[in-house]
Amino acid sequence: MSTHTELRAHVAAVLPQIIAFRHDLHAHPELSGSEENTARKVAEALTAAGIPHETKIGGMNGIVATVQGGKGTGKTIALRGDMDALPITEENNVPYKSQNPGVMHACGHDGHTANLLGTALVLNALKDSFAGTVKFFFQPAEETVSGASTMVAAGCMEGVDAVLMLHGWPDFAAGQLGLRVGPAMASSDSWRLTIQGEGGHAAYPHKTVDPVFVSAQLVTALQSLVSRELSPTEPVVVTVAMLHAGTARNIIAEKAELAGTVRTLNKAIRDSMPERMERIIKGICDSFRATYAFTFSPGTPPVINDEGIVALVREVGEELFGTENLITLKEPTMGAEDFSFYLEHAPGAMIRLGTGCPYLLHTPKYDFGDAPLETGMLLMAETTRRFLQ
Ligand SMILES: [Zn+2]
Ligand SMILES: [Zn+2]
Repeated sequence: MSTHTELRAHVAAVLPQIIAFRHDLHAHPELSGSEENTARKVAEALTAAGIPHETKIGGMNGIVATVQGGKGTGKTIALRGDMDALPITEENNVPYKSQNPGVMHACGHDGHTANLLGTALVLNALKDSFAGTVKFFFQPAEETVSGASTMVAAGCMEGVDAVLMLHGWPDFAAGQLGLRVGPAMASSDSWRLTIQGEGGHAAYPHKTVDPVFVSAQLVTALQSLVSRELSPTEPVVVTVAMLHAGTARNIIAEKAELAGTVRTLNKAIRDSMPERMERIIKGICDSFRATYAFTFSPGTPPVINDEGIVALVREVGEELFGTENLITLKEPTMGAEDFSFYLEHAPGAMIRLGTGCPYLLHTPKYDFGDAPLETGMLLMAETTRRFLQ
């Protein structure tokens, strides 16, 4: 337990700086891909602590910092925090309220970035207590799901044996952790479809090919993938989110434009969805004499948490915070996280960190708060040291 005393002292020592750092980020949020000032502040803090780091990873605002353990070479673990904010006008009245109109940290990435910086400072101070390497991924553009894939493409996962992240979670009280083995969040892919018909007078439908009629069949038929074709025990979402056609009440449209999303927890099902969808689209368009153009754009894979890494986090969490503060999540969610791109290259886990905020993520009153920072730093730092032992 003596190491925990030492660890707690180091976390307590950096906490005021990290709270102030989060307030500064919260007051000056930056949208996905525009995190220049956020990244500059992170880099300045790393420089001040003497922690080596690379900036502008993959041409974006990502930073990879490295702390080398003093006990020699060993395994490598990566810790990830995202830095971007959302196009939402903040409705909180806090001293650190957003000063950038229409932009706010409504997903709590201010907390994630501050937590990761604090963990870097603590592990840098404790580096003589472990072997191996810790990498810190300060990631841009999570909300637009281009940050993680860019960092991975730039090679940041080379030689990494495990990867870990925390996401602030308003459902749990501050200080509580939500753990789940296996699928934690869904894949998120998008698709677009143009149904080409033949327009004409609304009074003479027999002289047209009506793309609105074809769209109506399709919207219904696509749901048969979920209800009649895939196992009821496998969660899959097929959503037609956009459907645009027509210009006037007495004209049959030339074409209809549809778009939507597909979510699933199962990689094999995910890979099969473009073929399944196109088979139904083609069948219906052929039946009704329409033609089509279909594009399926892969987004993020599902987040699948590794059993061994979650067990390690649980062991450390129980020691630090007691069993009563560890919650086992019964269900995954169908939301997405681009953290899954790192998981394609090493086992890892996304851990939910309770914020106790009464408001939902992505809403104008969400606030990560200061209370979860101590928990987050303790957990990340000690899990890292334990992994590297
Ligand atoms: Zn978000
Ligand atoms: Zn988020």
